[in-house]
Amino acid sequence: MSTAERRLNPAELETFCNALLASGGARADDAACVAAHLVDANLKGHDSHGAGLLPAYAQHMKRGQVNLAASEKTLTDTSVILRVDADGGWGAPAGQRLIERASARAREHGLAAATLGQVHHLGRIGAYAEQAAAAGLVSIHFVNVTDHAPLVAPYRGSDARFGTNPVCIGYPATSTRPAFLLDMATSQIALGKVRIAANRGVAVPSGSLIDKRGMPTTDPSGMAGFELEGALTPLGKHKGYGLAFACELLAGVLGGGGTIQPDTPRRGGITNGMFSIFIDPAAFGDTAWMQAETDAMARYALASPPMDWDSPVLYPGDPERAIAGKRAKEGIPMDETTIGQLNAVAEKLGVAERL
Ligand code: NAD
Repeated sequence: MSTAERRLNPAELETFCNALLASGGARADDAACVAAHLVDANLKGHDSHGAGLLPAYAQHMKRGQVNLAASEKTLTDTSVILRVDADGGWGAPAGQRLIERASARAREHGLAAATLGQVHHLGRIGAYAEQAAAAGLVSIHFVNVTDHAPLVAPYRGSDARFGTNPVCIGYPATSTRPAFLLDMATSQIALGKVRIAANRGVAVPSGSLIDKRGMPTTDPSGMAGFELEGALTPLGKHKGYGLAFACELLAGVLGGGGTIQPDTPRRGGITNGMFSIFIDPAAFGDTAWMQAETDAMARYALASPPMDWDSPVLYPGDPERAIAGKRAKEGIPMDETTIGQLNAVAEKLGVAERL
């Protein structure tokens, strides 16, 4: 297995992604938005949610598992509640529109809740919390995944029954500190990290995977294409399992798109449901005090003497900012196996560009 990798220019990678999506049939505005979202995920260090997803997206376009002519419907629109059905369309454009609309409501009323159902893969959920934080809002997101076989075992279970159901909390920047961002899968590791480990021929962390017999393994080679034999384990035992379950209830049930139980269709695509809450801090008190208190808390937490001086305590969101700065300058590292997969998709779609 090859471990060789190259550094790709972010703008060139985005052009390549855009061309692939457009050739597969995505509308120009959707292709541009999804391509930018994928490359942003690579820039922020989340290669599991970056351009490497394009082979799967190309299959979804071919099989009609993403609706290229989607026409979004607003199901409920009261002052503080928005329910949107994305009609199976692309995740990034629908997600960005939802954040924009719900943020306006939260600014007006102090608080808003929104759901997005029947949407293709939303990608890196942190992008939506960053969008809300840039508008000065706190946001909380619960996401479930359907249209796909389950990937994560329940705590004490030995086979997959859940998606990697991410939970994400964004809190706006203060005058001295950038935004807080906790954006995490509720499995020990994201599925894409197994794909990348398999492509690189390296082991996954112990305790993060069980094989098809329900036994612990560190070998990612059971990952065939974008399907997994066996199951990922939940983050933090019963706690991650509980959060993954909460995602099914909030995003799948309240969100209206359904949960991953087997009566919900599984066509081999990726459909997300999202339940989000948006809060304007100004509606909850004196924002000058809040900023000072946020800064004081962050200084206190980050001053904990590190167990290893090479790995200081970080503010959630700092890892993405640090890696984005580095990758913007040095390029996005990508292994040759993933590059080969992307070039093969380009060839199939008749796209001239190659990585
Ligand atoms: P991760 O484990 O890399 O990071 C999780 C969070 O921890 C981040 O907010 C990060 O800023 C923070 N963090 C990391 N190291 C830290 C440190 N040392 N100190 C303080 N904070 C730190 O993320 P993950 O769980 O692998 O998730 C990867 C991505 O996958 C996320 O962007 C998530 O939204 C996405 N995802 C999407 C779907 C979907 O269906 N759309 C499903 C699952 C995951």
